[in-house]
Amino acid sequence: MNPQKLPEFKNIWQQSLNWQPDQKQQEIWDNLYREIILANQQINLTRITKPRDFWEKHLWDSLAGILNVKIINLDQSLKIIDIGTGAGFPWIPIAIITPNCQLTLLDSTRKKINFLKILIEELNLKNCSTLIDRAEQIGQNKDHREAYDLAVIRAVGEASVCAEYALPLLKIGGIVVLYRGHWQQEEELKLKLALQKLGGKIILVKKLETPLTQSIRHFIYLQKIVKTSTQFPRPVGIPHQNPLC
Ligand code: SAM
Repeated sequence: MNPQKLPEFKNIWQQSLNWQPDQKQQEIWDNLYREIILANQQINLTRITKPRDFWEKHLWDSLAGILNVKIINLDQSLKIIDIGTGAGFPWIPIAIITPNCQLTLLDSTRKKINFLKILIEELNLKNCSTLIDRAEQIGQNKDHREAYDLAVIRAVGEASVCAEYALPLLKIGGIVVLYRGHWQQEEELKLKLALQKLGGKIILVKKLETPLTQSIRHFIYLQKIVKTSTQFPRPVGIPHQNPLC
């Protein structure tokens, strides 16, 4: 199978996120798309394979969480971690547009990370490193605890579970971006209770419509305000089985 090219949609990038890819970034998008579609025949990476869907649900969505957001200054050399990166989202699009930042991608599935290591070489991404591990263990590892300025996390679990994975990894003042679809008041209440225990607070909830299919997206921005107690994250599996709230 020879994958098609991705659409450029420069006007849509500009209108929706006040940004657009340059020619080189567009070429990297195309290489990325081709590599993922080819690898998808061997390992189950993504069900989103049509060019327009891939553009909207993987590229646009990944960048919508970090672009055009005043509280995130991408001109600084940030240390960023993507927790549960899967096939590489939101990590890859972020890495492509932030060559001055250091990105770590974490996933517990060896097969996926092994594929992403090859992808890093193929796309010549100099600013990325990989970790095969559980967020619960990385959060208790002194090399990673309180080491990051920004954590991004999409489709990994309930919001309060994601917060328990992410907050321990942040420096004080660091920010977590939770990528969500619909966002209910009830979820927000549970998250606020969990954040009281984890040392964070919600600083912004941004609602967007995706530009092609008008689906609802919410980006929840958390800030770490005090040190997280060393009892968090709890041991492997516990945050998911027994979410904080
Ligand atoms: N973030 C990607 C996306 O939005 O396309 C992948 C989402 S996929 C549904 C969830 C990923 O999170 C899987 O690849 C899984 O291996 C990983 N994951 C789930 N729990 C994890 C944990 N506790 N630590 C590390 N990775 C985890």
